[in-house]
Amino acid sequence: AEIDLKALIHNFHTVKAIVKPINPSCRIIAIVKADAYGHGAVEVTRALEKKCFAFGVAFFEEAAILREAGIKSKIIVLFDREVEGIFKYNLTPVVFDFKQAQLLSKQAHKKAVNLSVHVKVETGMGRLGIYNAPCETIKKIAQLPNIKIEGVMSHLSEAENKEWTTEQIRKFKEIQRCIVNLGISPVFHIANSQGIKYPEALFDAVRPGLMLYGYGQNFEKELKPCMKVKTKIIDIRRLPKGSPISYGRTFITKKNSVIGVIPVGYADGYFRKLTNRAKVIVRGKKVPVVGTVCMDLTMIDLTDIREVKVDDEVILLGDLGNEKITAQDIAEWAETIPYEVLTSLGSHAKRKYI
Ligand code: PLP
Repeated sequence: AEIDLKALIHNFHTVKAIVKPINPSCRIIAIVKADAYGHGAVEVTRALEKKCFAFGVAFFEEAAILREAGIKSKIIVLFDREVEGIFKYNLTPVVFDFKQAQLLSKQAHKKAVNLSVHVKVETGMGRLGIYNAPCETIKKIAQLPNIKIEGVMSHLSEAENKEWTTEQIRKFKEIQRCIVNLGISPVFHIANSQGIKYPEALFDAVRPGLMLYGYGQNFEKELKPCMKVKTKIIDIRRLPKGSPISYGRTFITKKNSVIGVIPVGYADGYFRKLTNRAKVIVRGKKVPVVGTVCMDLTMIDLTDIREVKVDDEVILLGDLGNEKITAQDIAEWAETIPYEVLTSLGSHAKRKYI
């Protein structure tokens, strides 16, 4: 996998250019969970370090890796009940229930330090977040010793649906009003990449993930995909018409064919669902995957490619000349979403940064 950090910076500035004219004080929390969606959290965070308000990871272990790598920025831990490590690594936890806040407060008090937290509230995602009397609970959390509520957040569940998103934003605003009336003024944030298109979702901060990596409906033209995944042909076989290819003989050559073998399979995050569906780029031309994708090998039809040879480059994701394969294309072939394509391919491949 080739990761283009210049494209990452470009995408970051694209997010900024969308957000700032509407809310000049809106800050950016870059989401780098799942190893920065398969792009490498340490490298991505380093590249954006001085530009963001904070970085968001899912679990404590991911934050610890960033700190061990020397990252000094604020790191928000989105989905973890970890207590001890939060203090050890100077992290900012997201609190999603009162008991968790109490434990953090107790520990902060014992250590004689103040801990900043972001509190998550439910507005329609149905996942994590305080769902019973959010404002009253936040009031109680604010009164806990050694706890400072730095942020209040929620998450959009269907940002492509305007009506539903408007309803989530309305609920969040209601909670915001109540909290502000308590005399607490934290950083409010709700928008993920898709949410950024709603001006009313641009509270004090936004939390883009996918857009930073170059994907996102509505802004596709302004974004540059950061990840390219390449491999090489390890064998070329000239087979007669009627030859079966791979497990289950799901493909039989319809004419005399040239079949290439590439050392990539579902163990590398190249989904088995891509069997007889996906395309790859060889010598500037798109060619089909033929036969069942195996654990470590995949076959491609090279019959229409002239002068092809072993060791020729094969692009699974990315572009060459006029041809392009995006994570969205692979997602459609595999009936999934670009998030899963990037995290799967990116986390298995050896990464090179350009
Ligand atoms: N915020 C939270 C809490 C998330 O779980 C995620 C990703 O799933 C994001 C922000 C970023 O979402 P996206 O990649 O769609 O921008």
